[in-house]
Amino acid sequence: MVYDFIIAGAGVIGGMLARELSRYNISVCILEKENDVSMGASKANSGIVHGGFDPHPGTLKAKMNVEGVDLLYQAAEDLHVPYKKNGSLVVAFSETEAEHLQMLYDRGIENKVEGMSIVSGDEARKIEPNLSEKVVSALVVPSAGIICPYELTIAAVGNAMDNGAELKRNFEISEIIKEDDIFVINSSAKEQVKGRFFINCAGAFSDKIAELAGDGFFKIIPRAGEYLLLDKSEGIRVSHTIFQVPNENGKGILVSPTVDNNLLTGPTAAKVDTPDDKNITQKGIDTVIEYAKKSVPSVDFRQVITSFTGVRSSETTGDFIIKASEKVQGLIHVAAIDSPGLSSCVSIAKYVTGIIKENCNIELELKKDWNGSRENPHAFRNMSDEEKSEYIKLHPEYGKIVCRCEKVSEGEIRDAIRRNPIALDIDGVKRRTRSGMGRCQGGFCMPNVMKILAEENGAELQAVTKKGNGSEQLTGRL
Ligand SMILES: Cc1cc2nc3c(=O)[nH]c(=O)nc-3n(C[C@H](O)[C@H](O)[C@H](O)COP(=O)(O)OP(=O)(O)OC[C@H]3O[C@@H](n4cnc5c(N)ncnc54)[C@H](O)[C@@H]3O)c2cc1C
Repeated sequence: MVYDFIIAGAGVIGGMLARELSRYNISVCILEKENDVSMGASKANSGIVHGGFDPHPGTLKAKMNVEGVDLLYQAAEDLHVPYKKNGSLVVAFSETEAEHLQMLYDRGIENKVEGMSIVSGDEARKIEPNLSEKVVSALVVPSAGIICPYELTIAAVGNAMDNGAELKRNFEISEIIKEDDIFVINSSAKEQVKGRFFINCAGAFSDKIAELAGDGFFKIIPRAGEYLLLDKSEGIRVSHTIFQVPNENGKGILVSPTVDNNLLTGPTAAKVDTPDDKNITQKGIDTVIEYAKKSVPSVDFRQVITSFTGVRSSETTGDFIIKASEKVQGLIHVAAIDSPGLSSCVSIAKYVTGIIKENCNIELELKKDWNGSRENPHAFRNMSDEEKSEYIKLHPEYGKIVCRCEKVSEGEIRDAIRRNPIALDIDGVKRRTRSGMGRCQGGFCMPNVMKILAEENGAELQAVTKKGNGSEQLTGRL
């Protein structure tokens, strides 16, 4: 079969684009090198819906960010993805930093961000009582929010699949050949897929994919960001996202609640040799603690439950690269999507659809039965106790709690293994249900999750992996 569109990469950009394209009577195939979707930057980021004051006016980043915020909130509603419009504060610790806030405010006005204001340190502490006494003023951005980035990606890909798109996992694109106007895509495991148009959404690897496609005109400079995630007991420290004044390394270390009521601190910003370098360093940990405490001194870092690193796909121009290739007909780059890429994912998907309409010789006819919504994966979690009791009478598997920290039932885990895009491994179950996300980080629930995965897939327990081939947890039966 020759697909109409092949999308390289199942991150939030590839996923949201597939969802957008699934509105039309065309065939779409997403190729992903990992065992699950959302395994790149879309898994490990701050999860902030940025208001749009930071990108330089006139850039694609500014346009996509500001246009994208409300579109993203709407998509999150439609897809039942947890989000909260909690607003953000950028805090200044000196008069020089306060002047910078004014510059950010002016930039925000130019970018058409609505509702911003600058308040004094005391006013900021009225809004956020745990802010440092040293804060002299703050930029308040009410349109900013928080969202679960991997749930958004899973939901976008799932919704695209429900509407006919295909997903091929463990398909690492290793060769791209153009034969008679058709892209022939080969994988490192010797699989082959063909398509009329090819869209490069490969995140930090988008320069490699561009090169394979014969149009390697840009270079990604991967920059790692390390985080510390704290227990829900710390989630109450702040209700807004607290940024410091940005510098040449980016938006700096933030302190933010998450949609699941944890507290997130980070990220650092350090150049790394490869996008696969996701190490946590002592230096990174120290930096996160120092700067987070500068904003909110009472954060109790004894309550850290895990750490992680995300890798930004920055490019020297500092802007997104979203355009049809000038060299290879039918190739479109959606590359160098670093921050605010998450905030911009829906507007980017719509912008790329515009590029397709202008550049690709294909009729985009809307499907009559397209459904932009999907079943709420958290319907059970959100029920009252009475509703849960009634539901459990009909579906007893929801009465068995597998993850005690996050109170996730067997029914919810089985759903995650059955719903598009199905969870194939332990981490896939974790990202879809929160089983293993709590204080014990899977210490108690993992064996049961493995059993359910094996049962659902008709596989041996030894075949169950943490995150795809090579991460098996058991070596054999004793
Ligand atoms: C530390 C950090 C903090 C951030 N914070 C925010 C924030 O708060 N708000 C915000 O708006 N944005 C934020 N961002 C930016 C946001 O995370 C990204 O813009 C977004 O996730 C990019 O999505 P993507 O789909 O382009 O890339 P990715 O999510 O990286 O997806 C690319 C996919 O391509 C796949 N792939 C790569 N090579 C191949 C190949 N050869 N074959 C097949 N598949 C391949 C990868 O496995 C991956 O799944 C942050 C980023 C980082 C790293």
